[in-house]
Amino acid sequence: MPEAATRARVLVVALGGTIASTGSAGVVPRLGARDLIEAVPALGAVAEIEAVGLRQLPSGDLTLDDLVALARLIRDAAARGVDGVVVTQGTDTMEESSFALDLLVDVEAPVVVTGAMRNPTMASPDGPNNLLTAVRVAASPVARGLGCVVVMNDEVHAARFVRKTHTTGVGAFASPATGPLGWVSEGRVRVASRCAPLRRFGSVDGLDVAPVAIVACALGDDGRGLEALLSTGYRGLVVEGFGAGHVPAAMVEVLARAAAAMPVVLTSRTGVGEVLSSTYGFVGSESDLLARGLLSGGALDARKARVALSLAIATTADASAAVRAFEAVRDSLTFAGGPRPPEAAVDPS
Ligand code: ASP
Repeated sequence: MPEAATRARVLVVALGGTIASTGSAGVVPRLGARDLIEAVPALGAVAEIEAVGLRQLPSGDLTLDDLVALARLIRDAAARGVDGVVVTQGTDTMEESSFALDLLVDVEAPVVVTGAMRNPTMASPDGPNNLLTAVRVAASPVARGLGCVVVMNDEVHAARFVRKTHTTGVGAFASPATGPLGWVSEGRVRVASRCAPLRRFGSVDGLDVAPVAIVACALGDDGRGLEALLSTGYRGLVVEGFGAGHVPAAMVEVLARAAAAMPVVLTSRTGVGEVLSSTYGFVGSESDLLARGLLSGGALDARKARVALSLAIATTADASAAVRAFEAVRDSLTFAGGPRPPEAAVDPS
């Protein structure tokens, strides 16, 4: 395939994960950004690559503070004219880290998160193809303005909707609510749909990420752990309720008390669709919980709502401003009567 005459400049930032994991007695992150790039000679024809190793961790050990630092690095790179950025990391928390980057980085240049389900010691590791594909997307003008995307298994997913849906399969990443935004075929980047403009957080400097807990509901749970949780220093709570946003009646009272003390966001454990606001009327229903001061998570799942709430609380000391900041993110996920999508650029390949 003919490549563009002038190669794009792409920054690859490595954070660890399976894509970088080797070893004979249990693989652990060992390979750096340079190692990953050198293993894929085809990258040289796609872009001029700069490599940075920022962390070398299993992705469960990354923190939102790490992502604030990464967001700063990406903003600086975009300001000095880099055309796109690829982040390589573990897949376990990619659905959260990509959304955090989407909220923290407001640049036209594509920000692409990728990784691998099969490590480099296996017979058919997927890391090299994922890295090559991610760099193609980061280098493509078609992907400009998409915000942060996850590129895995030749598909392009919006950070706000992508989820890890399988423990080991190379097709683990999906956007069950919407499908992928696009794909890469024979090296060509195809974008079939674009998201509504996300409400992002302006400055990341000095951001001190707030601890926010997730509490998942289960059949017969009486919420006894919640009471203890409230005195552990969390500054917000996300409830992963049943169905359209419901909890057992036994949990309602403690949740109402929590909501008087901190922002408490109601989400659904189903993972697709938005929580309702005015359909059911029983104790513990969505309308009951919202009337008791819980905030609707809208179409955010619990993990993405937690990321948005942590960052929203971090941006202001004013509790109601933090709530408004969270709600602005939530309400910007879709085109709910908002502006039309920008015109798409043309992929020269
Ligand atoms: N299983 C993980 C991965 O795919 C490990 C991690 O998230 O670091 O990279």
